[in-house]
Formats: sequence, structure tokens, C-alpha cells
Amino acid sequence: MQIHPRLVVIYQQVIQKPVKNISIALGELAPLDESNLRAQWDELVKNTALENISLNIRIIPAEQQCMVCFLKYHPKEKETACPQCESVGAKIISGEEFYLDEK
Ligand SMILES: [Zn+2]
Repeated sequence: MQIHPRLVVIYQQVIQKPVKNISIALGELAPLDESNLRAQWDELVKNTALENISLNIRIIPAEQQCMVCFLKYHPKEKETACPQCESVGAKIISGEEFYLDEK
């Protein structure tokens, strides 16, 4: 299984100071979804000190802003055209997150 490089970085952060549980923030537009992330994490921590920690995944909804009419909207099905004026090239405000939540 291909492990996303950012997940390896998160692993290296956590292994410094192992805890009982961690939370990863994952945006809707991130390159992997919740079940992918969980499968990759399980693969990564197998037979390591982190094998038994529990992983919480905090999904962050996507939000985009149209650069023509400035409408803010939630993109459906990763479709990015503005629902109001149909222009493309909206700015992503949130939804690309993929990081370890610091406590
Ligand atoms: Zn628009």
C-alpha cells in the first residue's frame, strides 16, 4: 500500500511522544478520504509502539469562494463551478487540510 508522505510525517511527530489517542484533521478535498486514511494509518503503525493508539479523524468541510461574484459555497462532488454565476477558478478557503491536531 502506498502511504501518503504527509501521514509518514504525522507518524514521526507522534512517535516522539507517544500518546493514547490522536486526532487528524482531514479536509473534504484532501487527496485521500477517511477510510483510505484509516487503512494507511493501520498499515503504518502495525508492529510499532503506535499500534494501539486510537485515531480520530476530524473531517473539515470544503468551502470555496468565487473570484467573480465572491459567493462562498460548498463545492459538490469536487465540482468547482460557481452555483451562482457558473465561473470556474474559485479560491479554496478550506477543505485541503491534512495535519495532526495539536492538543
Ligand atoms: Zn460566482
